[in-house]
Order: sequence, then structure tokens, then C-alpha cells
Amino acid sequence: IIQLYVPLNWFGTYYRAIQKNFVDMENMFELLVEQQEVVDIPGAGPLYVRQGTLEFCNVSFSYLPERAVLKNISFTVPGGKTVAIVGPSGSGKTTIMRLLFRFYDVDSGAILIDGQNIKTVQQSSLRENIGVVPQDTVLFNNSIRYNIQYARINANEADVITASKSAEIHERILTFPDGYDTQVGERGLKLSGGEKQRVAIARTILKSPAIVLLDEATSALDTQTERHIQAALNKVCADRTTVIVAHRLSTVIHADEILVLKDGEIVERGRHDDLITQEGVYADMWQQQLKSEFEGNKKSSDSDES
Ligand code: ATP
Repeated sequence: IIQLYVPLNWFGTYYRAIQKNFVDMENMFELLVEQQEVVDIPGAGPLYVRQGTLEFCNVSFSYLPERAVLKNISFTVPGGKTVAIVGPSGSGKTTIMRLLFRFYDVDSGAILIDGQNIKTVQQSSLRENIGVVPQDTVLFNNSIRYNIQYARINANEADVITASKSAEIHERILTFPDGYDTQVGERGLKLSGGEKQRVAIARTILKSPAIVLLDEATSALDTQTERHIQAALNKVCADRTTVIVAHRLSTVIHADEILVLKDGEIVERGRHDDLITQEGVYADMWQQQLKSEFEGNKKSSDSDES
């Protein structure tokens, strides 16, 4: 039996494996079988989301016994607020997202949503309340409509269009040869990275979860795509508790709190302006980012949106 995670378009490792094994992803729904690594405790009840407040309380975690990946991480995201996580490669950013989605259980400490330990609630109800916008989105070999609607399969046409408009992808879809019926994916129209991310945002808007996890694309985007993405992100994050692995200046500037992660520890935290004045790790990263975005923009005449 093939065991796969739900949803499938999630963090790299899983869907890369899937992409490799299933060229034809049309019927991916049939393959949606829960992974059994993390199991519900007996009698686990549903998660009740009220404000959507998220808390990491002294969370430590390691994939392998000898190497701690997260060390005593604590932070709170009040309902509707946005926290951005920044830090060098390998510092543990993605791991925080995986733990939130409960791909793994923490070694010590706890993750709470509105006071409920996520370890004690039904995984299915946890995942119903969390929307994920990954860096790279897998598209099914199906119509663009299906690709958006898959977040809520009983959504009607009007809902799909509203979500697409909010995600700033509607106008673009209308320029495709068959509009919403255009076939996309490996065997259809190829979408750019920016377009695929907006498809993921449209899905998430349609799903309408209380909590959004967003893994921002690292690639340099041209100014216009960047603007579209930013507008779409603002809509998907509005009034939702949001955790972003952030790579873009525009994102971190607006975050309610920035966590600077290094070797699995939070080394700095605060709002952008405060962190800049501290002249520490964040201020250095910011300088580097400014430089690379400037260079990226210079090169982005090969725009992915003509
Ligand atoms: P990046 O910015 O490159 O995505 P990150 O900050 O998201 O990095 P993580 O992916 O959370 O970092 O990884 C943190 C550490 O955990 C790294 O040292 C990584 O090698 C290790 N790691 C990640 N996934 C696994 C895994 N499935 N098994 C073992 N070690 C892992």
C-alpha cells in the first residue's frame, strides 16, 4: 500500500518523491492515505479554533537522536497576526512548519492552538484548519479550475473565481487558451513559479483556514510578479494567523514579529525597525538581502509574466 501525506503538495521531500514516482497525478485523490508515523491518541477530539492563537512552548526537536535541530523554541502568534521566520539555510525554519502541521511530534515542550496541544487533537481536524502555501506547488495534469478547486472539491464556480481574483490569478487565467478549462501541469500549459504560487494562494483562500503556513519562494521575481504575489499574500494572510518562512524584504517589513533563527535557536526577535537598530544578525541579513534583490531585479528583464 502506498502511504502518502495529506495534502500532497507539501514540503519538498514528500512531493518530490511523489513527482518522481507518479508522473500522472490526475488521480492523486485516490492516493490520499494518511501517513501513520504520527498517530491520534485514543479518544482524540477535534481541534476547536476560536481566535487561532498559536504557541510554541519550549519546543525542542531532533530528526536524529544525536543532533538537536530546534532548541527550546518559544513564541506566540496571536490570532490573526503574522510571524516571519528568517535565518540561514539549515537553521530549522522548515522544521517549525513541519511540526506545526504535525508531520512529527516534538521531543519536548508543546505546540498549542487556542490552548489545545496539537498532539492531543485529531490530525485530520488540525490539518483542516491549516492552509499551506509551499515554495513550489505541484499542479495536477488537469484543468486550472480543478487545480484550484481541489482545496474544497465541492466549491462552486463562483467560489473558484472569487478565490482566483483574490489571489491575483484570475485575469491571467482568462488569457489562457481555454480560460479555466485550460489543461496545466506536466502535459499542459506550464505556469511560471509566480503563477504557481498564486494558484497555491487561491487554493488556500478557497480552503479558508484559520492558520496559514507560507514558505516563500526564494527566487528573484520581476517587479510586476512580486507586486501580484504581495497583493495575493496580503489577502490570504488577512485576519488569519500566519507563519511565514520569509525571504522577501516586503514580507518581513510587515510582519508583526520576526524571529531570527540560527542553529535551531531564536537569536533575535522583534519588529523590523527594532532589529535593524540592534545591528546584529538580522541587520546583516537585511543588507545581504537588499543587495541580492537589487541584483535580482536587474536581471529580471527575463520576466516570467509577459
Ligand atoms: P532552508 O532555508 O535551507 O530550507 P531551514 O532553515 O528550513 O533550511 P530545515 O529544513 O528546518 O532548515 O533543517 C534544519 C536541519 O535539520 C538541517 O540541518 C537539516 O539538514 C536537518 N533536517 C531536515 N530535514 C531532515 C530530515 N528529514 N531528516 C534528518 N535531518 C533533517
